[in-house]
Amino acid sequence: MHNFNAGPSILPREVFEEASRSVLDFNGTGLSILEIGHRTPLFQAVLDEAIALLREHMGLLPEQEVLFLHGGASTQFMQVPMNLLDETATAAYTDTGVWATKAIKEAKLFGGVDVVCSSKDSGYTYLPKEFTVDPSAAYLHFTTNNTIYGTQWQDLSFFYDKGVPLVADMSSDILSRRVDFTKYGLIYAGAQKNIGAAGVNVVVVNKEMLGKVSRPLPTMMDYRNHIENGSLLNTPPVFSIYVCLLTLRWLKKAGGIAAIEKENERKAGLLYDTIDALPLFKPRAAPEDRSRMNVCFTIEDPAVEAEFLALCKEEGMVGVKGHRLSGGFRASLYNALPYESVVALTELMRSFAQRKG
Ligand code: PMP
Repeated sequence: MHNFNAGPSILPREVFEEASRSVLDFNGTGLSILEIGHRTPLFQAVLDEAIALLREHMGLLPEQEVLFLHGGASTQFMQVPMNLLDETATAAYTDTGVWATKAIKEAKLFGGVDVVCSSKDSGYTYLPKEFTVDPSAAYLHFTTNNTIYGTQWQDLSFFYDKGVPLVADMSSDILSRRVDFTKYGLIYAGAQKNIGAAGVNVVVVNKEMLGKVSRPLPTMMDYRNHIENGSLLNTPPVFSIYVCLLTLRWLKKAGGIAAIEKENERKAGLLYDTIDALPLFKPRAAPEDRSRMNVCFTIEDPAVEAEFLALCKEEGMVGVKGHRLSGGFRASLYNALPYESVVALTELMRSFAQRKG
């Protein structure tokens, strides 16, 4: 199978194999990874190594804490403003797609929200770059890669001189390219694309951002409690974290973010070149904002679109159908997707386009 799913999505084969072995016998203990206590030295070693690897891959500063939390990235839409946005303060948000819109909706429950830009009118086909941020904003929130519409900020340094702390939803492109992660007050990402298995999200928070809002925070919502308890405030998603560890080890063996970035460029380059060369297929995103993770494209005639999708299915290509909100096709090219899968898809596109004349 060629797995182009948007998330949960493909993970490296060796991760599946090792995880499977550990379900039966974790590290020769005679116990399954699914039955060890989260407060045992066995699991503590998993957690410690996963955090250390994330710190290494991302090049984090000592004041940036790494947390594994529950609830998916969607919980962060609420937890971020609850912790960082006082009732009387305002935060700046960019509106570049569905996930950004959801983050905006949640933030409004806690304080003022200034939507500094939006590409909604165009159906989120591009990233709006003409905007200003009030220097008094509590933070500026943006989505680095818009999973549904296939747009991605190419040059993140665009945000670095905005003069306010940065909060980024990196769910669908974290660990896929080199980023100066030290520039961020807070980063969050669901694990189910490039980090590992669904059921956990990674939050990287600069401690200096915390403790500044006046509202009382529920215990489980307060980042400070999770920091104090080393992501063990309650029972964590043990297996998901373990799969993250295996994926982070794989990434290191593959040469780390710098090496995977080159591979991701090669994969996306091949697919976009193919789309551009075949008039049957139309790219969805503005050329300068094209995502290397989620490549979205269409065919004008819905009947032909359906025909191509049926062909993909026949050829063992999974997850090529676009999101229900954007339609068309979406091929997700996350870290673990082999180049050969993109070759197979592009060959199919070429032969299909030729047949359609
Ligand atoms: N943000 C982005 C950019 C996403 O792609 C997604 C999920 N695809 C989410 C947030 C929501 O993640 P979750 O389902 O883990 O809540």
